[in-house]
Amino acid sequence: MRQRNEHTIANCCQVDGRGYWSGQKVRVRMYPASVGTGLVMVRTDLVEKPMLQVGLATRQEHQLRTVLASGQAKFAMVEHLLASLYALEIDNCVIEVNAEELPGLDGSAAAYVDALRSAGLVIQAAARKQLIVDRTVRVGTAASWLEVSPTHGQASQFEYVLDYGPDSPIRAQTFRSTIGPHEFSTQIAPARTFVTSEQVQQLRAAGVAEHVSPQDLLVFDQAGPVQNRLRFDDECARHKLLDLVGDLSLINCEFIGRIVSHRGGHALNAVMAKKLLQIAQRTTDKLFRKAG
Ligand SMILES: [Zn+2]
Repeated sequence: MRQRNEHTIANCCQVDGRGYWSGQKVRVRMYPASVGTGLVMVRTDLVEKPMLQVGLATRQEHQLRTVLASGQAKFAMVEHLLASLYALEIDNCVIEVNAEELPGLDGSAAAYVDALRSAGLVIQAAARKQLIVDRTVRVGTAASWLEVSPTHGQASQFEYVLDYGPDSPIRAQTFRSTIGPHEFSTQIAPARTFVTSEQVQQLRAAGVAEHVSPQDLLVFDQAGPVQNRLRFDDECARHKLLDLVGDLSLINCEFIGRIVSHRGGHALNAVMAKKLLQIAQRTTDKLFRKAG
């Protein structure tokens, strides 16, 4: 497996939108950063401009989205941004956000990818850390699990198996892909978040996401997407894969291996990410290698 160098962006760039849950306007500004910075997020709307280092240590447990927090520095719905940075191979970046919740946009990562690609990449003088899987590890239950295994020098493979049962308005589907800048930008980033009309009613009853319309993400009822059209037949599985990439990126190194998620979600993604780091930290080159 080739070892490649770290990258940052060549210019700063930004994405504007509204938080799905809060409805609040928010701007995400991304800046170039030097080797060793990693991904740093800053809350520019707060007086003391609190910041955090993106990583598993700052992840908080939430059911439907990924939240990072360290003291006052709290950021919700970070997974689409993190997946984009990971897949575009951007290791060092300072991200300023002027609200807690990142923008929902059209439910996909396309706007992040467009902004980051137009900012351009700079190759930096440091080898990117890699986590190379060379044995099989599984987490979860019989109904919902994640498994990693070696790829023996082949490109990393990600696979998502979605199956909500025969009564779901969303049909069973599987999507698999390698995760490079091109595949991610064209095949994965455009896939949108989805909910069922039942979930929408529950969210509205809880007083959140009131301004969100079926054009802002995919809402499914028994007849299919409401007032919207799919970008891919298997758009839901692609989106779950996008979330998996974002959640797994919290290991802060390049994942070299194969990963299959069978009906997994954010919580299980985090369990696997933790397990991978634990194994990498306590084993030698023979098992997992955390290179660099
Ligand atoms: Zn998502």
